[in-house]
Amino acid sequence: TLDFHPSGRHFLQIPGPSPVPDRILRAISLPTIDHRGPEFGALGKRVLAGMQQVFQTEHPVVIYPASGTGAWEAALVNTLSRGDRVLMYETGHFASLWHKLATRLGLEAELLALPGGEGWRKGVQATLIEERLKADTGHAIKAVCVVHNETSTGATSDIEAVRRALDAARHPALLLVDTISGLAAADYRHDAWGVDVSISGSQKGLMLPPGISFNALSPRALQASRVAQLPRSFWAWDEMLELNASGYFPYTPTTNLLYGLAEACDMLLDRRTGGLEGVFARHRRWAEGVRAAVEAWGLELQCTEAASQSPVLTGVVTPPGVDADQVRHLIHQRFDLSLGTGLGRLKGRMFRIGHLGDCNDLTLMAALCGCEMGLKLAGVRLAGSGVIAAMAHFAAHPQPGALPC
Ligand code: PLP
Repeated sequence: TLDFHPSGRHFLQIPGPSPVPDRILRAISLPTIDHRGPEFGALGKRVLAGMQQVFQTEHPVVIYPASGTGAWEAALVNTLSRGDRVLMYETGHFASLWHKLATRLGLEAELLALPGGEGWRKGVQATLIEERLKADTGHAIKAVCVVHNETSTGATSDIEAVRRALDAARHPALLLVDTISGLAAADYRHDAWGVDVSISGSQKGLMLPPGISFNALSPRALQASRVAQLPRSFWAWDEMLELNASGYFPYTPTTNLLYGLAEACDMLLDRRTGGLEGVFARHRRWAEGVRAAVEAWGLELQCTEAASQSPVLTGVVTPPGVDADQVRHLIHQRFDLSLGTGLGRLKGRMFRIGHLGDCNDLTLMAALCGCEMGLKLAGVRLAGSGVIAAMAHFAAHPQPGALPC
């Protein structure tokens, strides 16, 4: 008997890490340089300026050699003090993990949650935040923390509406937003939306391998960091910003990932492909095609609120009695395609299709073929062909800039 050795490229269709384009892999493969030497400063300045454009901010961006979880911690320890109350909102698994992290840091972290897990099927309900803040007449709440794109469910929240909720309540809390899987895929505007700290990571829309993460700051966040008391050293913004002014870092940065980041910024901001607006439009269109497939299969989306359905990933609920992880394993085994697992309370009940970063219509069609074949082989009764529906959608809605037929 032969062992199964897949040929061709693996289909990494999880919602991050996303496939890394060859152009970025080539950039990362360049020889490592002295991070305190004369050439490094130019690279540092280039990526810091590039990331300001990606976050759509004129204020500083901090880059950590860490995964997104580190940047979550950085946002909290730089702005808050032990015992401070923070208001968080349960959109899914990642919102709950951030809440756990805040609690472990010694914060009084309050989690707004809809009953019966309903919050895991929608975006943030900003009116609930507004009500809670209005009740906090003594302004005990120091920060509101929300997840922009909840990767465990496939719901994107309206961050502008959350900002409006803070303003309507006339509440001075800081607004901290996790856009780890949103940035450079779903529309995101740090300055225009009045966000105080935006948190992101390298392995999603930025199309890099895992390993770097970000805090984008506001002047109010910087002010808060001057009085915040939570202990911090590795995560401290002050030394980072001091050295970043000349393009350097207080400790050894991930030099080769920064080569990749410079390349990623060039790709994302390239005017010939529509810049960031082009990036957002491409993701919206891919998501529409994938949702057309799910609808044709007759399966349920995890995110039931149409306006919040994510351009980055789609969570697909399997019918009762069908273990989504078994379907995923079968698809991986037979077709060398990786899909995202159900996380937390959704374990075994749904799978996630990532449609972010270095994708195109045909790579997505291949992923949908893998899903459809796998679902059928697993004995799931489908209402119709999602593959045919997605093909029809992509054919009828050409990517902007595509040549007319
Ligand atoms: N927040 C969100 C929305 C995420 O999707 C992830 C990871 O997938 C994280 C936080 C945690 O980031 P990391 O795994 O890079 O530490």
